[in-house]
This record gives sequence, structure tokens and C-alpha cells, in this order.
Amino acid sequence: MRVYKEFEPEEVKRHLLLIDDLYGTCANCGQLGLNFTKDKVCPGCKTTFSFLMTKLKNPGDVIKILNRIKTDSLPFTMIEKDDYDRASARDALGDLFSKKT
Ligand SMILES: [Zn+2]
Repeated sequence: MRVYKEFEPEEVKRHLLLIDDLYGTCANCGQLGLNFTKDKVCPGCKTTFSFLMTKLKNPGDVIKILNRIKTDSLPFTMIEKDDYDRASARDALGDLFSKKT
């Protein structure tokens, strides 16, 4: 089941784990080699992870991650990368305009 909920991109980024295959990167500090099935807290910046996002485009890979979240009862919300990119771009644009005034 897909759940849609509005989040602030900045808030998401502070608690986001980016996944490549099974290993991930902390979006907050760039810490590499994290494992979303084990690391609930970043060893680099101590942020707690609430969100997962993957660059993997293959729906099968995404489903594999979602299944893992489900079977392990992991406390993560999966973020759609396109949504995140769009929201971030919108925010960056907002910053640009607010700086002008
Ligand atoms: Zn970190």
C-alpha cells in the first residue's frame, strides 16, 4: 500500500537514508556504508533515520526494500525520489525569491 503524506523537504533530509542496493548513505552528513536493516542512527552525525529513499529505478528493487521494511517491522517511511526532487527544487526556488526581497 502506498501512503501519501506531506513532509517538509528539510525535515526529511535531516532524517533520510539514501539506499543504493542494500547499502546506504546518510543524507544529513554523507556517511557511507550504512545498512538500513541495522542502522537506525547515523554513526557520523547521530541523526535518527525515519525516511528511506532509493535511486534504484527498477520497481522490483523498490519492492524488495518495501518487503524488507515490512518483514523486519522497520520504522521507515519510503520517499518517492521524484517527489523529493520536486519539493527540494521548489524550496530552493522559494529561497531564491525570498533572498531577493
Ligand atoms: Zn549522518
